[in-house]
Amino acid sequence: MKAANPTRLQRAAVVVAGVAAACALAFGAAVPARAAATIAIVNLNAPGEGFNDPTPAAPVGGNTGTTLGQQRLNAFQRAADIWGATLTSSVTIRIGASFVPLSCTATSAVLGSAGANEIWSDFPNAPRPATWYPSALASKLAGQDISTPGQPHIIARFNSRLGLFPDCLPGSGFYLGLDDNFGDQIDLVTVLLHEFAHGLGFQTFTDDETGAEIQGVPSIWDYYLLNNRTGKLWVEMTDAERAASAVTWRGLSWNGPIVTAAVPQVLDPVSNLAVSGAAAGPAAGNYQVGDAPFGPPLSNPPVAGQLMPVVDQANGTGLACDPLNALNALAVRGNVALVDRGSCDFVTKARNVQAAGALGMILADNQPGDVTGMSGNDPSITIPCVRITQADGVTLKAALQRRTRTRSGVVASLGLDTTRLAGTDNAGRILMYTPTIYSPGSTVSHYTTEAKPNQLMEPAINDDLTHQVTPPRDLTFPLLRDIGW
Ligand SMILES: [Zn+2]
Repeated sequence: MKAANPTRLQRAAVVVAGVAAACALAFGAAVPARAAATIAIVNLNAPGEGFNDPTPAAPVGGNTGTTLGQQRLNAFQRAADIWGATLTSSVTIRIGASFVPLSCTATSAVLGSAGANEIWSDFPNAPRPATWYPSALASKLAGQDISTPGQPHIIARFNSRLGLFPDCLPGSGFYLGLDDNFGDQIDLVTVLLHEFAHGLGFQTFTDDETGAEIQGVPSIWDYYLLNNRTGKLWVEMTDAERAASAVTWRGLSWNGPIVTAAVPQVLDPVSNLAVSGAAAGPAAGNYQVGDAPFGPPLSNPPVAGQLMPVVDQANGTGLACDPLNALNALAVRGNVALVDRGSCDFVTKARNVQAAGALGMILADNQPGDVTGMSGNDPSITIPCVRITQADGVTLKAALQRRTRTRSGVVASLGLDTTRLAGTDNAGRILMYTPTIYSPGSTVSHYTTEAKPNQLMEPAINDDLTHQVTPPRDLTFPLLRDIGW
């Protein structure tokens, strides 16, 4: 049985907003000596376009192609070879690939997308009856190529205009080198590893907005997607229950044994804000925080001090977007600064409270929402910085009402909770990406953004990713193994 629905199946896309900060890591991906599966790139571009673009190109980062088109193809083949060395299949996996104009603006762009071209159920040797498998995995399990003749297993489309035009993230195009030394650009091999994983099966075929299964048949994915509050799997839920769980922050976990066994090797302890002290009252306790890519990562023993707010000024300053005035500087010196989000970027606030002598910065959101990290880069920042929700900010400020100019009686400790790994639920399973506001193409078919270190299959490509898809760095391959690879 087969269902092909390209519109739905290719919608898992990576979107970046803004320009990625430079944080290049020098990890070279090894060329596999012997592939355990062969992945072939099928060039679907017309002559002169995409992979056939004849624009001359200088060799870059180990990519020896002499035209733009050839360099693109070389990067595709590198990503295919990395997956090929990792997977096992007797059937050659064919990826129908093209570079075409995709949606973009000056400040954000769709990089590209990939997905299964066809899905199959009840094929020879299918592990579960009446269950959708992506074409490449179904062929592996069947031991023969069951795809429709002439049809690739995976379809991949990438943005041919990225970084090359003023209306398409100018200056921030794909890095076509193979050495992960991408600088200010977007590492194409990393993006391809991510997108190919979707095509190999890192996605549900069930509608993640309505909860509806295709033809009433669940995806293999749905046997592992667990509501960690009710204990129900997606296959056991009604459409409405699935749809509701997909927009419950921290509500869905991956229940596959291979991923869960690998989690302790891969993920680090979660960052934590502990609040205590004589004046803390009902604000005492532990708070979930979002991490910053600038400043030192949180560690133990914690950085601790009196929690003191940076108070907004009548003239519009006071959000720590400018050097602190005398009273605010007195308040935060030798203490932990509580700053509201808004009016300027995170790094500017951190720089100003650090200059005033703060030991750390807690940034309170200025709108309702889930716990999220920060963005930005400044090597001169040496104090730990975290972000908390607007609601938690309100709770903390209520405890600071009776402070003096230099003390609040509320102690903030920024450290690690060693009993819990970043991005996991209470049972040690990794969380999936389920933002409260539905995010088409991202919700459910990605790992949580709270994982630390960042994982390949988070909804956005982060600068600290490498070309590794296996433990101890990454949990992508364990999930593919859970579903049958
Ligand atoms: Zn994705």
